[in-house]
Parts: sequence; structure tokens; C-alpha cells
Amino acid sequence: MRRRVIVIGGGASGLSAAIAAAEQGASVTVLERQPRVGRKILLTGNGRCNLGNENLAMLHFHGTNPYASAIMQQFDTKKFFRGMGLYTRTDAEGRMYPASGTAASVLDALRFRAEQLGAEMLCDRQVTGLKQTGKKWQIICGDTQFMADAAIVAAGGSAAPACGTDGNMFPILKRLGLTVIPPRPALCPVPTDAAIVKPLKGIRVRAEASAYAGGKCVRRERGEVQFTDRALSGICIFNLSRIAAMHGTKAEIGLDLLPDYSGAECAEMLQELVKQRGEYPAAELLSGLLPKRVGEVWVKAAFGTANAAAAELLHSEAAQRHLLEVLRGRRFPVTGTASFAQAQVTAGGIAGQSLTKTLAAKGLPGLYICGEAVDTDGDCGGYNLTWCWASGVYVGKFAANQNNM
Ligand SMILES: Cc1cc2nc3c(=O)[nH]c(=O)nc-3n(C[C@H](O)[C@H](O)[C@H](O)COP(=O)(O)OP(=O)(O)OC[C@H]3O[C@@H](n4cnc5c(N)ncnc54)[C@H](O)[C@@H]3O)c2cc1C
Repeated sequence: MRRRVIVIGGGASGLSAAIAAAEQGASVTVLERQPRVGRKILLTGNGRCNLGNENLAMLHFHGTNPYASAIMQQFDTKKFFRGMGLYTRTDAEGRMYPASGTAASVLDALRFRAEQLGAEMLCDRQVTGLKQTGKKWQIICGDTQFMADAAIVAAGGSAAPACGTDGNMFPILKRLGLTVIPPRPALCPVPTDAAIVKPLKGIRVRAEASAYAGGKCVRRERGEVQFTDRALSGICIFNLSRIAAMHGTKAEIGLDLLPDYSGAECAEMLQELVKQRGEYPAAELLSGLLPKRVGEVWVKAAFGTANAAAAELLHSEAAQRHLLEVLRGRRFPVTGTASFAQAQVTAGGIAGQSLTKTLAAKGLPGLYICGEAVDTDGDCGGYNLTWCWASGVYVGKFAANQNNM
């Protein structure tokens, strides 16, 4: 008798799980609450889908799941997709994209392979309950019920709720006894004092951004920082956002606007600039180094005005030192948390302590969890999708075989 496997959620991890289970000979049905599967995949990487990364060092992954590293080490993203006719290319930073340059071809590859293997996809079916009945699982979709030998929860987290992912499966899993680490938005802008950033809206600068919690620096990232009317944004800020969400208003973000220069180089540049532009208003002093508006706002933050002549404001070594300190270490208060609608992923989810090493729910044989629903989240750079493909394939294989653990 073929094993019957039901996959809850037709996203990145659910489609991977369905393919892996079907390849093992199981009879597979995917239940997806949206009218179509894979909607979120189409949005990834700005429509280009950053589907993996050459460098899978664990420092790029976070959460309480102790099995993430081992699961990802045995997975080969390129091979997985090549096996379904999708070629990839890798950029200078190790990020992998489909060779076609479009996320749609990733979804097509997954759909075609799942269809070829006979996996059934039922859309507009929201799972509302899960019950263990003897050795079987009863999957409830409103008035309809499905019986299965194994159920795989691949329903994502709470980020991007417009894609069908609003955390609705967490209470259901909690009722079954699993521990849910409270979901928090991650890979999102960090809200800060609007009075500081609003005048800079739309400007981008290269910077080193540091996340401070309780005054202590917890993580540093270099890259482009973008100012919005009430937040700091950009990839390096996204990578710090889970810390900001964890510590709330006890967190701060520090910005070094001259990250590529040593202290001595900065001091020399400032001295030169004061000589070259001393007779102009201090607002003009830094426009050869930084976007003009940024220079003006930072000078004002240091001295309360940017209208006085630069030579007048910066006549002393102490004044120049002070401006450099502000340029290299100004701190922005974290004033709140971004919404899940602004977040690319969820930090939190099913705790590692509730899972066995096969990602089965402890004490509930035949129930597996994968993808973003697990408390594993990654940095920007293809890490989240890598986890989804790898964990989906991993649980798909176990679910399709008898030995539920
Ligand atoms: C804008 C954006 C850009 C991103 N870009 C990248 C990127 O370039 N690279 C990267 O690595 N990561 C990226 N991510 C993150 C990545 O897309 C997600 O981590 C990943 O798609 C999660 O996959 P998943 O299978 O766990 O869940 P999802 O893909 O979220 O799929 C879960 C599915 O389950 C369905 N579902 C939920 N509840 C139920 C229910 N009760 N019954 C039935 N179905 C249900 C949902 O409708 C959904 O289709 C991005 C995210 C966003 C929002």
C-alpha cells in the first residue's frame, strides 16, 4: 500500500516536501488556502528569486532549531533544481538566482516536477484542524476531512500575510502540545525617530550599521542604508532587524558613515575639507564625501546648526573630533517594531525542543514541520529559501516512509 502524505501549504517548503515524498512513491496531496500555490516565491528577490547561497555558514541562520545545520549540509540547491530542469547562476557575493532571472521559472520548475510525479494540488483549502486517530492523521478543512499516514505542516510563518501566511497554524500546533516561540517580524525596516529620518527620506548611503542592545553592540553589518520617513532600511538594516524586534525600545542602531576609512584618514580628510571649504556654510562641508543633505543633517546634529561658516564651527581639533565621532557613531533609537506586512520572514515559530531530528513533532509520530514554520530564520541572501527547500525535501522523505519518528 502506498503511504498517503498530506502537505499543508503550497509554498517553497511545501512544494519541495511534496516532490520528495512523491519521489519516494507516496501518494501526495498539497492543501493550499490561496487560489494558487507558490505566490510568495514569485515575490522573492524582487521577482528574481535569490534561491540559495554558496556560503551556508551557520552564522547566517538564527533560532532554536538544533538540526538546521545538519539538514542544510546534506542538501545541494543547484542539484535539486537542475534535477527539474532549472539552471542557476551565482553572483560575486555567492547569491544564487535562476539562470532565467525570473522567480516565475522557479515556481514553474517546482509545479511541473510535482505534477509529473502525480502530486495532487488542491487550492482554496484552508486547514483548520489536525487530529491524531490511531496511527493516522485527520486533516480538517472546514467541512471536509482528509486522512493520511503522515501530515507535513509547511504553512510558513506570519510574515507577508497577504500571501496567506498569517501564523494561523501556530495555535493549532500549540493545542497539540508543541511549543511556539512567539513570532516576530524579521528582515524588515527598523522604525526610528521620524524627526531625524524624515528629512532624509529616499536617500541611500554606504555605512556600517551596528545593533546595540542595552548599550552593548551585538552585531555589525556593512552595506547600503536607506532612510524612509520613519525608519532605517536597506539590506544591512534588514539583517539587524531581528535584534531590534527582540529588544524593542532597549535597542539602538549606530551608523558609521565613513566605514571604509581609518581614524587617521578621516581626521586628515576633515582637516583638508575645512581648509578647502572653510568660508562656506558648514552644511556644504561634506558634500564631496556624502550626499549633501546627509552632511548637513549630521553637522546640525553635532553642533545644533549647519548655517555658520565651516571654519568657524570647526576651528578647534576638539570640534573636528566631535564631528567625526558623530559621523562614525551616531545612534538611532529603536522606537517600535515593523509590521509583519513589512517583513520578509518570521523569527520564531515551532521551537527546536518540540522537534525530533527528523523534524517530526515530539510524541506525535507522523506529524512533520518544515520551512518558515520552524523557528529557523536566515539573513538576506538566499538563506531562507535554502532552509525551505532543504527542510521540505528532508521531511518529505521521512513522511513517505514507514518509520515515523
Ligand atoms: C517580499 C519577499 C521577498 C523575499 N525574498 C527572498 C529571497 O530572495 N531569498 C530568500 O531566501 N528568501 C526570501 N524571502 C523569504 C522566503 O520567501 C520565505 O522564507 C519562504 O517563502 C517561506 O517558505 P514556506 O514554504 O515556509 O512558507 P510560504 O512560502 O510562506 O508558504 C506557506 C503557504 O502555506 C499556505 N497556508 C498557510 N496556512 C494554511 C492553512 N491553514 N491551510 C492551507 N494552506 C495554508 C499559505 O497560503 C502559503 O502559500 C522573501 C520573502 C518576502 C515576503
